[in-house]
Amino acid sequence: MEPHSWTIHEARERLDNGRITATGLTRSVLARIEAVEPRVAAFNTVCADMALEQAAAADRRLQAGERGGLLGIPLALKDNMITQGVATTCSSRILKNFVPPADGAMAARFKEQGAINLGKTNLDEFAMGSSTENSATQITRNPWNLERAPGGSSGGAAACVAADMALAALGSDTGGSIRQPAALCGVVGLKPTYGRVSRYGLVAFASSLDQIGPITKDVADAAIVLGAIAGRDPLDATSSARPVPDYSRGLKDGIKGLRIGVPREYFIDGMDAPVADAVRAAIDTLKGLGATVREISLPHTRYAVATYYLVATAEASSNLGRYDGVRYGHRAMDARDLLEMYMATRDQGFGPEVKRRIMLGTYALSAGYYDAYYKKAQQARTLILKDFTDAFGQVDVIATPTSPTGAFRLGERTADPLQMYLSDIFTISINLAGLPGMSQPCGVDGNGMPVGLQLIGKAFDEATMLRAGWAFEQATAFHKAKPSL
Ligand code: GLN
Repeated sequence: MEPHSWTIHEARERLDNGRITATGLTRSVLARIEAVEPRVAAFNTVCADMALEQAAAADRRLQAGERGGLLGIPLALKDNMITQGVATTCSSRILKNFVPPADGAMAARFKEQGAINLGKTNLDEFAMGSSTENSATQITRNPWNLERAPGGSSGGAAACVAADMALAALGSDTGGSIRQPAALCGVVGLKPTYGRVSRYGLVAFASSLDQIGPITKDVADAAIVLGAIAGRDPLDATSSARPVPDYSRGLKDGIKGLRIGVPREYFIDGMDAPVADAVRAAIDTLKGLGATVREISLPHTRYAVATYYLVATAEASSNLGRYDGVRYGHRAMDARDLLEMYMATRDQGFGPEVKRRIMLGTYALSAGYYDAYYKKAQQARTLILKDFTDAFGQVDVIATPTSPTGAFRLGERTADPLQMYLSDIFTISINLAGLPGMSQPCGVDGNGMPVGLQLIGKAFDEATMLRAGWAFEQATAFHKAKPSL
């Protein structure tokens, strides 16, 4: 196996015992990018020179005896996490030439730990979408079938990990944007509990929902990366001070007696039958490993999509107010006065989906409609959280499909925003409730495309979710399948 196809834990062992250098590993990954990126188009920016400099620095640290963590591991960042001196575009025309003067929390952690930053991956503009087709930069393709979408909004991150163009990547998840593309690209995607990972330097979409997390080749790697990025950050007031457990240590403890809940509302009419079958088979596998499985109910699930698209758009309309042509990015040059400049800048800079969300959110927040829409949505959000609290009185982990279908064709859903919104029907409740969720490969659909199993944990109990996911992986081989590119 070539180094670019290693997992982090495989690379870790070889870096620590000197069988490969960080430079050798990084060169292998850069060569892989050169070979397959022209077909996949996962990256907005590849930082080859910077990566090799960082690899040389990591090698010096390894020579000095430092070991473990992310030291010497080549990784990619979604292009909505700011990086000093490297363009951070959010795949939007409005930030096309924006080069941040400082690192956000994730780029800073990479440097502290000696990880190698390969570059910035494509996304739906400002992370709004489920296919990465809302990007203003390029169309990313699913490595399993280049005519199909990689999912979104972290489609570039999921595609680059699936295609072995990074050992792992960081994505952000507001309503499913780590888990859904991970499912569609056949890799592992973990959205941590709200507050587990710092959002400092993550360009805000919907601040009460956004969370950064790992996209990896297997569950053991998800545990490693989560441990490396989690924890309190004084620069993000919503980050939690709870101690970060050693997520790798508990992985092998087994799942005898683990109580798994399967919500009846997550197997719905209109969902793809092979997807439902694969997920049910995965749940049987977990049962075979000693877990007890019971049906549960999350009765307010049917309000989740509507609730999410009010809360998320309201917060987005406020967060995106800062792109005014004065402080960041693009400015329209031909305006006669300030108001005209604002309007022309935003008209030229934002794509149609972002405009749609700003209008929806502004409407939901406006005087006279606030009670009917925004306040109602907040009340529904509380009921959705209460469903989970009640369920977690009886079970330790919840198992569901990640997405109702496998990867769809490029262009298939772009004409109908509502169709696109339904891609997230199984992921958004978890953001509304602030809980951790993880998708991992568990089969294929009728088109041979990967299917994702979603495990949902109690707040701040990523460890149990990871333990269940790891046990599943040991009993199966779905995570080992690779696309042929
Ligand atoms: N697809 C959902 C949306 O369009 C979720 C996106 C996300 O998690 N960033 O809003």
